[in-house]
Amino acid sequence: MEKDLLIGIDIGGTTVKHAIITSNGEMISSWEIPTNLQNAGISIPTDIWTSIELKLNELEIKKQRILGIGVGAPGFIEPETGIVAIAVNIGWRDFHLKDLLEGLSGLPVLVDNDANIAALGENWQGSGDQVDNMLAVTLGTGVGGGIIANGHILSGANGTGAEIGHMIVEPDGAPCNCGRNGCLETVTSATGIVRQAEELMNAGKAVKLQQRKESVSRITTKDIFECASEGDLDCQALLQYVFDVLGFSLANVAATVNPAKILIGGGVSKAGDALLNPVKAAFEKYALARANEACTFGIAQLGNDAGVYGGAYLVLQNN
Ligand SMILES: [Zn+2]
Repeated sequence: MEKDLLIGIDIGGTTVKHAIITSNGEMISSWEIPTNLQNAGISIPTDIWTSIELKLNELEIKKQRILGIGVGAPGFIEPETGIVAIAVNIGWRDFHLKDLLEGLSGLPVLVDNDANIAALGENWQGSGDQVDNMLAVTLGTGVGGGIIANGHILSGANGTGAEIGHMIVEPDGAPCNCGRNGCLETVTSATGIVRQAEELMNAGKAVKLQQRKESVSRITTKDIFECASEGDLDCQALLQYVFDVLGFSLANVAATVNPAKILIGGGVSKAGDALLNPVKAAFEKYALARANEACTFGIAQLGNDAGVYGGAYLVLQNN
């Protein structure tokens, strides 16, 4: 029987996303199950395989058609062994995800970091256009990074490659989840942008934002972008600082990986051109001229589906 189908899995702290995708990139089915965090996430591999078996039965698809399973998981992953060294949000430590899932399914399983997998997915079926050198940055609760170098995910020596969000940009800056201070994500994540806006308001600045805060329960980056476009000078200056820091950080990464494409995703990227154009301008200001010539910018297209596409592509790429 021809092996023409791939399974992509994206494990998050709340849900596990699954998809059956053809080797041409056509999504046959996608579904999600809650992430069971009890007992440090011990049942997750069983939950995944049980739900896949149910779906295959429901769709009358024979297991023999599946080429393999590609999984994106949060945290630090060793791709060769498929061991999740640490995934704080799940509770895994030295968790043998690949072995467990291969034992249950009898199928080849490949594992990599979720941000890397999402970059691979965007490059295959999203805005990446299948370039060989690409950088994907996700501006959400944190700042995630994925690098494709010479056609392959850059994982690094122990799964700590492409951790763009933890490049230090303010040595004495705000505390980061990683235990250090002033990482890129403390400045340019949604959480970081909102924190800086709160500081402005506490200092009696950003009056438009302050007024808005009285009518909404919680300020978001969308509010900050809107107040900036309505003429709030403090919000404008804050965003300009964020764009500038992001632009020079990306220019520094570009001096190392020389990407043909930089894709920005995550919640903050919903601002579209209001984000993309100034970040691009800052990048141009700081980047090596030759690195800039080679590089185009875009907004990621696949949203929450990037991970499952990337997992599927990882299987395809390794066959
Ligand atoms: Zn950090």
